[in-house]
Amino acid sequence: MSTQNHPQETPESAPPPQSQNGLRSEQGHVRCPVCGEMRPLGDFPKDATKSSGRASRCKPCDNARNRRYYAANRASRLMQQRRTRRAAKES
Ligand SMILES: [Zn+2]
Repeated sequence: MSTQNHPQETPESAPPPQSQNGLRSEQGHVRCPVCGEMRPLGDFPKDATKSSGRASRCKPCDNARNRRYYAANRASRLMQQRRTRRAAKES
């Protein structure tokens, strides 16, 4: 049996030049990672803490999130309020 090494190098197939970044921005449009829609930059609220200067999620998504956060916050705040009110009454 003869094991033949192939001296000939197999030419590495060069990967086609593909943009592998999922975040494609076309003409001032940015894809919102939450709803996955391409939206104009104006639909993204300004966020000075972000390097891009814009929030990563669009306004509708941001509003929905804020509303949910507010609702959750409100419930806990009401409970706290009730507790302090009762404490005030007892004293
Ligand atoms: Zn969105």
